[in-house]
Amino acid sequence: MTIEDKSVDTIVIGGGLVGAAMTYGLLRAGQRVIMLDEGDVALRASRGNFGLVWVSSKGEFMPEYARWSRRSADVWAEFAGELEQDSGISPAYHKPGGLSFCLSEDELARKREQIERMSGYNGNLGYGAEMLDRQQMDEIFPGLGPDVLGGAYSPHDGHASPLHLLRALHKAIQIRGGRYVNEATAQTIEKDGTGYAVSTAKGSFRGAQVVLAAGHGNRWLAPMVGLDLPLIPEKGEILVTERARSLMPMPTHLLRQTAEGTIMMGDSHEDTGYSTASRTSVMSDLARHAIRCFPALAQLRIVRSWGAVRILTPDGCPIYQQSQTHPGVFSVNCHSGVTLAGAHALALAPALAQGALGPEFDAFHSRRFANGTVHASAH
Ligand SMILES: Cc1cc2nc3c(=O)[nH]c(=O)nc-3n(C[C@H](O)[C@H](O)[C@H](O)COP(=O)(O)OP(=O)(O)OC[C@H]3O[C@@H](n4cnc5c(N)ncnc54)[C@H](O)[C@@H]3O)c2cc1C
Repeated sequence: MTIEDKSVDTIVIGGGLVGAAMTYGLLRAGQRVIMLDEGDVALRASRGNFGLVWVSSKGEFMPEYARWSRRSADVWAEFAGELEQDSGISPAYHKPGGLSFCLSEDELARKREQIERMSGYNGNLGYGAEMLDRQQMDEIFPGLGPDVLGGAYSPHDGHASPLHLLRALHKAIQIRGGRYVNEATAQTIEKDGTGYAVSTAKGSFRGAQVVLAAGHGNRWLAPMVGLDLPLIPEKGEILVTERARSLMPMPTHLLRQTAEGTIMMGDSHEDTGYSTASRTSVMSDLARHAIRCFPALAQLRIVRSWGAVRILTPDGCPIYQQSQTHPGVFSVNCHSGVTLAGAHALALAPALAQGALGPEFDAFHSRRFANGTVHASAH
């Protein structure tokens, strides 16, 4: 096995949306970075997600996460513009606002309660989400089904193309002088002088710092560096229709029309371990629910579907922390890698480039799970 003689400032383990946004942000901050990725055999949430840049339901029980999501949405346009300039690839970001549907009195009451609880979370910035009655919904989103009683609207929500985002990040990383090593599963992480050596089948790499951004792979890497990351797999299935004329003025929590014209339907939640297999019963439930909300969908053909495994923490909020036993090793895990890509690249990576997570990141430490009280947050 070879040892790379050229050390870098940071080795990022994981080349999904989280690792790539961190790598891009570290390069922007002037660091030399290597990004290692396991390759096609790995579970890769970033290749199977829905594409929302979504603020309005995040952090109901953790105000810091609500503010962090909002901060990411606030910088997303700047982030997308810079990324397109660097890579020549647009992540197709649009922020027309976002809508959530309520189909029963219970759902309306639950949404109202959520909005009330979160209304003060952003101080002067404002939370922004508001309840809409059916007439107000019709004015901004024509064509809703009769079962939709009302819902919520937030001007801070939007959407992007997750695959274009990932491709743009990988291209920009290359252009900014970063190195991406594919099929390089990190096998061991060991102290090496003042930094760390990460061994892979493609050789060993040295870095002053290491960022664990391997999604579910972090669970396996964490014990090597004195971390315990309680990550939970949860499958989501997605259906995609053929292309249609412009039908939807904005994304919703379970439907969105892509820049190419296809309509994506999502938001299923299954406990099936690490399986990504699609199930017909779940797919038909998704389609049925989507048609109840927006009947015009019944005319369209489904052309693709897939399952992918979410990376959840017990409360649905991110974990960002530095290892105590291995200073300079950081773990970064979150469910919402599209939503948070802006904040990861423009705010979290600059903090790691300084070698520390400041007090603003304290709330995201996994010690919050130590006493066993966990509020599952909307994700
Ligand atoms: C169905 C579904 C819908 C979603 N919808 C949204 C949405 O609308 N909006 C949103 O913001 N988020 C959404 N998400 C979440 C989003 O996809 C994830 O937060 C994001 O993809 C996580 O990125 P990641 O880089 O942490 O993980 P992954 O994409 O899983 O990447 C981890 C990478 O690490 C690599 N790896 C693993 N182990 C090792 C190792 N030992 N060495 C080297 N490399 C390793 C793997 O090869 C992989 O490429 C959705 C997820 C799912 C499943």
